[in-house]
Amino acid sequence: MSDYQAPLKQMRFTIEHLAELPEVLALPAYSSVDADTVEAVLEEAAKFASGVLAPINWLGDRQGVRVVDGAVQVPAEFSDAYARFCEGGWPGIASNPDYGGQGLPKAVAVACDEMWASANVSFALCPELSQGAILAMDRHATEELKQQFLEKLVSGQWAGTMCLTEPQAGSDLSSLTTKAEPIGDRYLVSGRKIYITWGDHPMAENIVHLVLARLPDAPAGTKGISLFLVPKYKLNLDGTPGPLNDVRAVSVEHKLGIHASPTAVLAFGDEGGSEGFLVGAPNEGLAAMFTMMNYMRLGVGVQGVGLAERAYQKSVAYSRERVQGRAPGERGRVPIIRHPDVRRMLLLMRSLNQACRAVCYYTAGCLDRGTHGVDEQSAAPWMTRAELLTPVAKAWCTEVAQELTSLGVQVHGGMGYVEETGVAQFFRDARIASIYEGTNGIQAIDLVGRKLVRDGGATVSAFVSDMRALDAALANAGERLAATRAALAKGLDEIVQCSSYILGAERKDPELASAVGFNYLMLVGNVIGGWQLARGALAALRELEAGASDRTFLEVQVVMSEFYAEQVMPRNLAYGATVRTGSRSTMALAAESF
Ligand SMILES: Cc1cc2nc3c(=O)[nH]c(=O)nc-3n(C[C@H](O)[C@H](O)[C@H](O)COP(=O)(O)OP(=O)(O)OC[C@H]3O[C@@H](n4cnc5c(N)ncnc54)[C@H](O)[C@@H]3O)c2cc1C
Repeated sequence: MSDYQAPLKQMRFTIEHLAELPEVLALPAYSSVDADTVEAVLEEAAKFASGVLAPINWLGDRQGVRVVDGAVQVPAEFSDAYARFCEGGWPGIASNPDYGGQGLPKAVAVACDEMWASANVSFALCPELSQGAILAMDRHATEELKQQFLEKLVSGQWAGTMCLTEPQAGSDLSSLTTKAEPIGDRYLVSGRKIYITWGDHPMAENIVHLVLARLPDAPAGTKGISLFLVPKYKLNLDGTPGPLNDVRAVSVEHKLGIHASPTAVLAFGDEGGSEGFLVGAPNEGLAAMFTMMNYMRLGVGVQGVGLAERAYQKSVAYSRERVQGRAPGERGRVPIIRHPDVRRMLLLMRSLNQACRAVCYYTAGCLDRGTHGVDEQSAAPWMTRAELLTPVAKAWCTEVAQELTSLGVQVHGGMGYVEETGVAQFFRDARIASIYEGTNGIQAIDLVGRKLVRDGGATVSAFVSDMRALDAALANAGERLAATRAALAKGLDEIVQCSSYILGAERKDPELASAVGFNYLMLVGNVIGGWQLARGALAALRELEAGASDRTFLEVQVVMSEFYAEQVMPRNLAYGATVRTGSRSTMALAAESF
């Protein structure tokens, strides 16, 4: 029996009411997707996650991975699970049907992503990266490359990676030095990439590396970066994997968490050059890579949700079993779930994580509508909103995941700190999520610089207006949602004030975006999360009034919103006050004075 059960009811509710699946399914692109298909996919994904992936999560953490003779070895159980994952058609559920995908909306696939991450985040990273590579190739590669590579990637027979980072080029990709020399219609790529997730492994027959590199005459900085496809094995004339392509796994990192996900140092072209193919236009590789990075950023937010959900489930089970102390008004010793402080932690975990889930699923729904809208005019605002939400989903949800997986340890007391309970693994596995795919500090700068300042606050303002429009319905709900209503109104006021403060001050203070960006992002995430829980509470009240049978579940939605309004929304005041103090005290010490 697995210790992970997918929260299917909560996921269905979120997909339908908060990611607005009915509107997404009304798009012509999804005319062949019906509610029964969605239900069947969710049910089967839940079985696969709890029956196949979750049972090998702990084993992967213990065994880890290693390099033997220039190749990475992973636990055999992972290779078996990957084969079953591919047999089930899971790699391609949301991929383009032209290449064998099932073309489901992201608003549905995101729930599967959450299940994979909850069950086994190390495993989940492999197909997640392949998906990102597929999307980037589908948008930017030549027809010939698509024909050669996409079907195999969509089926999972081949896997994808993302090769950006070099020792001197982490957050700052402008300093990357990997080279690509043109030879006929292809390129010889040489250089060293570090930290490459699933950079090498035996689970797939070939590995398709998407590599950022520089052409010989490329300008310095980010404007001289191009994107190349470099397969692990060159292709034979019939398209099957042939000889090795001079890509070698030098080593894998020993890390705090995600032990079963190989984080490899890859050497390209040590013996003359790895054969590569240009993807997109020369010197415009970073823009092409952003397709993959943005996809992955939402995926990393979802990893946070998955890990926090698993930590919550374990914490609830433990707090029902562990008997300790006495509670007011009760006879004898009680399970710790009776103690108000434990209840505070559990409800914080449940409500904050549901808010994060809703932010991620809603972002997925915006992407579906932005990508497949009937015309440019109706699609564009959804894409703009998805772009605004991407750094929030990535950074806010992963910051929250640090807090919630840590609370999972706390609920277990000393047993949380020892490894045997498994809850410490979720805490360790979650830690990377705020670092990779652009650290959360970099996400905050993106939110302020590209999403707020660039259009003078127009996108943020339009979203705030939409969120404010919920006020009338909350007022109609009466006393039950009065705290929710007041907290949302105050939170939106904070966003407005902080946005206009930043817009007014950023020209005079070049350090402002980086100094206050993080707290601005936390404010925006926290308020959007509150808005989503308020929408959930209203939907639940409507269903209760209509006589729905699952009253306990619906009541939980209302209580989560009330609790969040009273216990989490007050954080907005602190975030807002911090933003409005600007960079002065943050930058008051000279670097030498630390
Ligand atoms: C387990 C793991 C898996 C990874 N997988 C991949 C992968 O598959 N592919 C890949 O290409 N990379 C991968 N990475 C690399 C990852 O994306 C980088 O580690 C990350 O982008 C940060 O870069 P860095 O480590 O060089 O940190 P640095 O850039 O050195 O940052 C250090 C600190 O300085 C801050 N900082 C840096 N620049 C600025 C700035 N301009 N303004 C404000 N703050 C700044 C950062 O926020 C951070 O707090 C992985 C890393 C790990 C650990």
